[in-house]
Amino acid sequence: MLDLTYDAPKPKVIQGAKSDWELVIGLEVHAQVATQAKLFSGASTLFGAEPNSNVAFVDAGMPGMLPVINEGCVEQAVRTGLGLKAEINKFSAFDRKNYFYPDLPQGYQISQLYHPIVGEGEVLVELGDGTARLVRVERIHLEQDAGKSIHDMDPNMSFVDLNRTGVALMEIVSRPDIRGPEEAAAYVGKLRQILRYLGTCDGNMQNGNLRADVNVSICQPGQYEKYQATGDFSHLGTRCEIKNMNSMRFIQAAIDVEARRQIAIVEDGGEVTQETRLYDPDKNETRSMRSKEEAHDYRYFPCPDLLPLEFDQAFIDDIAATLPELPDAKKARFIADFGLSDYDASVLTAEAENAAYFEAVAEGRDGKLAANWVINELFGRLKKEDHVIGDSPVSPDQLGGIIALISKGDISGKIAKDLFEIVYTEGGDPAQIVEDRGMKQVTDTGAIEAAVDAVIAANPAQVEKAKQNPKLVGFFVGQVMKATGGKANPKAVNEMVAAKLGL
Ligand code: ADP
Ligand code: MG
Repeated sequence: MLDLTYDAPKPKVIQGAKSDWELVIGLEVHAQVATQAKLFSGASTLFGAEPNSNVAFVDAGMPGMLPVINEGCVEQAVRTGLGLKAEINKFSAFDRKNYFYPDLPQGYQISQLYHPIVGEGEVLVELGDGTARLVRVERIHLEQDAGKSIHDMDPNMSFVDLNRTGVALMEIVSRPDIRGPEEAAAYVGKLRQILRYLGTCDGNMQNGNLRADVNVSICQPGQYEKYQATGDFSHLGTRCEIKNMNSMRFIQAAIDVEARRQIAIVEDGGEVTQETRLYDPDKNETRSMRSKEEAHDYRYFPCPDLLPLEFDQAFIDDIAATLPELPDAKKARFIADFGLSDYDASVLTAEAENAAYFEAVAEGRDGKLAANWVINELFGRLKKEDHVIGDSPVSPDQLGGIIALISKGDISGKIAKDLFEIVYTEGGDPAQIVEDRGMKQVTDTGAIEAAVDAVIAANPAQVEKAKQNPKLVGFFVGQVMKATGGKANPKAVNEMVAAKLGL
């Protein structure tokens, strides 16, 4: 467990025409479970397949077909719960949520209303200003995704693609603990990071594999504290739910514009009606989609086709034993073991693959130097070419080799950059390249002295000036570095120049 004191929430305050308003936000994140097969059928979950090619009879709602639970999805949900330090419910059950959509041919979605698989958990959310706070997770339940209706391919017809129908989703429901647009984005980002570490969802928001329903309400200052003290939601304003957001940027914009819409209504003497809305990024506005349904509108009832899920402690313990080191723990360890700054540790632990790469480079070497090189040189270079760490032409061994040469004083920082470029584009063993191409730093004082003498002899006017103004030493150092092709040890040159000029 991290030793952190959590910061009090700093609600985003929006000034209305009449008074100040605070934001209250709760998120329902739908995360597609990373598995090969769907929740209740053996059909593939592969993205981008030919329409309607990944559809089992049960997904298509064929009469008499029965769902069969995919144990892999259950394990992934438990793993996710453990990663969010949540209570795992050894008993959970599936319910039918009845509604009709052409892309949900069963006529109902199988979900878990009454007995979700995971209970209370938490997400540590770090904010840009260096503060961190806990957002509570209320529950996680398993449910089926719907398919896709396509209305824009033909002027007279609509099409349905059932590939996604029945794919397993985890719905991760937060408490209304989020207090501003940036915090909402940071929460989604952190959740995504944890899921990716766990390997339970790939977090690909573009493909819709991670998307959020964003609940927004406004309240007067002081009201949220009353809600927190009592758990009584009547202290809060009426919420609107903005459906299916799959971009961090739009989540923030939608919250802001929705809060302002609600403030205008309330200050005008009106009331916010609870409803489901859609965000239109082109117009930067939210629009009513449908009035909010209550649970009874869906006539939820226990799914008669599926037994409840029951498992014992050993099942949970086995999954717990395979949990990887998670982002918070890894970051804390990087700070403690490698002496990294909070910022560098955050960057390096953003993705598990990046962290593993860094560790391989830093092991037994100067951690801070390794962090600088991985973040500034390698990540910078990869980003320029739109590459991820898996595409890196430089292995941890090679980058470690460069760093070792710097630490030993064999090469200067400047030469190291040239060397990095060679290794990046041509490959090879850094030490060998330095040897073969004569890139070794000149630490031999005789050679440096000769170069210093030559530069001093060639610049008598500068010598006079430098004697008046010692800052001009830099000119000579620069000239010597140039003359030695950047290979002289800058520290040695500096000392020698100062000594020769009697400074
Ligand atoms: P539903 O499925 O009906 O939308 P859920 O219980 O699944 O209901 O989710 C409700 C979400 O709305 C939760 O994330 C919760 O934190 C959030 N929420 C509840 N009340 C408010 C409120 N007053 N303001 C903002 N968010 C709220
Ligand atoms: Mg919900």
